[in-house]
Amino acid sequence: SSLSFAHVPHPSPVSAEKRAELLKNPGFGRVFSDHMVTIRYHETKGWYDAKVEPRAPIPMDPAAAVLHYAQEIFEGLKAYRTADGGATLFRPLENARRFQQSAERLAMPILPENVFLEAVDQLVKIDRAWIPEGDGSLYIRPFMFANEIFLGVKPSSDYLFIVIASSVGAYFKTDAPAVSVWVSQDYTRAAPGGTGAAKCGGNYASSLQAQAEATRHGCDQVVFLDAVEQRWIEELGGMNIFFVFDDGSMITPPLGGTILPGITRNSLLTLAKDKGIKVSEERYSIDQWRKDAASGRLREAFACGTAAVVTPIGTVRSNDGEFRIGNGGSGAKTEELKAALVGIQRGRTADPHGWIHRV
Ligand code: PMP
Repeated sequence: SSLSFAHVPHPSPVSAEKRAELLKNPGFGRVFSDHMVTIRYHETKGWYDAKVEPRAPIPMDPAAAVLHYAQEIFEGLKAYRTADGGATLFRPLENARRFQQSAERLAMPILPENVFLEAVDQLVKIDRAWIPEGDGSLYIRPFMFANEIFLGVKPSSDYLFIVIASSVGAYFKTDAPAVSVWVSQDYTRAAPGGTGAAKCGGNYASSLQAQAEATRHGCDQVVFLDAVEQRWIEELGGMNIFFVFDDGSMITPPLGGTILPGITRNSLLTLAKDKGIKVSEERYSIDQWRKDAASGRLREAFACGTAAVVTPIGTVRSNDGEFRIGNGGSGAKTEELKAALVGIQRGRTADPHGWIHRV
């Protein structure tokens, strides 16, 4: 693509002292960088008007299609600060590809991979100062929505693609060694033929009631079961899940169109195989989970995703009661895989699969 990015100059409205203060303890998703990238699309013109500009509110018509029919998709990836003051991204091409797959499912135009990557690079370059030191990172949020002013139900003629960035620390506020999860038996996330494999806003809107139920039961995250038999573990509200057994083997639910194909999940499958761990993509039921936790056959379970990285699951609660995994804390395999992943992401260890992209 020959799209070139116009730069709108912008002195940061935040002083260096104030920024340093904000970056000390940014939490998740509340501290934003100075700029955004915007690219427009029209059905006859294609992609046009690419800009790197000051982050600012976007004027919208109240009849903009996204506000009514939720034709919207997004991505999430992290930029890390390198020892030499540069920045890296972890497998951004996978995000570009998943964005294309989400677009296809939502009947939206396909953004070329190189344009997605260029937009992300441009934002990280200009806002590199917003990458926290230490364990933090800059969470990059590319998204696209239907912007046609029309109340008819059809794919929009116009779209806006935007990339913003947020300085983040740990995703979970808890100091506990492991998180607790609530298995939802009242709500499901995605049915066969639905949008479960797409990263569209609507999936998250429909997960909120289940997440609220989890919170009411004192749990950090919700676990969804499949919509057909309400029996098979699918994934968490915003993370995939792995199980570790007493023989050292691991399983994770298979991608069947109803769960998000996580890039962290994919990376951990590869890292586990590298380590000679027997790992497979296999269905696992809630009943089996309870039985195996009780018998000790199940040793560990962990959630994984860009935001949560690798997070041990210690307690599982549902309408049928509660059970504990292992000693309720983290486990050796969880920690080993987390260290392997984070080592590559942070540039502390070798990158045998070429996952690191220098900005
Ligand atoms: N499942 C869901 C529903 C998610 O929102 C996410 C976060 N993108 C994941 C899994 C993990 O995906 P990734 O490892 O690519 O961040």
